[in-house]
Amino acid sequence: MANQKGGVGKTTTAVNLAAALASDGLGVLLVDMDPQGNASTALSIPHGPDDLGIYDVVIDGRPLIRVVKECPDIRNLWCAPSSIDLAGAEIELVGMTHRETRLRQAIEHLRTQLGRTNRPAPDYVIIDCPPSLGLLTLNALTAADEVFIPIQCEYYALEGLSSLTRTIELVRASINPRLAIGAILMTMYDGRTNLAAQVAQEVRTHFPDLVLRSTIPRSVRISESPSYGQTVLTYDPTGPGALSYRAAAREYAHRRATAPNEGRNR
Ligand code: ATP
Ligand code: MG
Repeated sequence: MANQKGGVGKTTTAVNLAAALASDGLGVLLVDMDPQGNASTALSIPHGPDDLGIYDVVIDGRPLIRVVKECPDIRNLWCAPSSIDLAGAEIELVGMTHRETRLRQAIEHLRTQLGRTNRPAPDYVIIDCPPSLGLLTLNALTAADEVFIPIQCEYYALEGLSSLTRTIELVRASINPRLAIGAILMTMYDGRTNLAAQVAQEVRTHFPDLVLRSTIPRSVRISESPSYGQTVLTYDPTGPGALSYRAAAREYAHRRATAPNEGRNR
């Protein structure tokens, strides 16, 4: 989940997409790579100074399996929480060896460990990135098969997307040739305004094959659910927020099943 623009709905999309896929029976691991820890909060996963988090994995090489916690009220959903010291990791990583591949190695190691003990590996690993294109995001892009880009339906929606796509190109050319843009999702869509419709049209014109048909409406329920430590799927399961995230998750999963990553948008 990446977009270096702040507040476009990355975290909201990460947790609600994860919850929607998990409630459809898929195994999902959400990795919170943002020092803000909002995804961990939304899933009620403790991430205080005494809790192990993704910092311990990326900087200290602790196995991911020791850090991952089960989400209390959604089956099949696991979370590797952020921690406040992750803010310093961006700088600490600069001097480290294999600084871009540390998360990828940790996820590969987790898969091996689960396989060795006959436990199923997650069907999806969703990584919530911070709003920057620094080393934490670079670790995520190196570990991922696909970038999922949430775009807020507001003025300047496309601003900054060229630096994101350029970064994706660079990562693909150097360190992760599998990487593709998996989907673009329009968030905070207000169907009553002409502006939202115009922005949506502009984004679809730029990325005709990548934009999901499902859009996420602006909804108070979506924005207040994290303060109850919940996703909108459990907080307001029958409301438009939950229904739209379920629809987006199914559309995305269906797309992945029918259009394999190989050869797309490169
Ligand atoms: P950051 O770049 O800081 O990590 P982000 O891209 O992860 O931000 P979110 O934290 O998901 O963005 O969303 C930004 C704000 O908008 C939050 O307060 C969130 O609750 C709110 N928000 C997200 N999606 C919606 C929506 N569909 N309707 C209403 N509010 C929303
Ligand atoms: Mg966020």
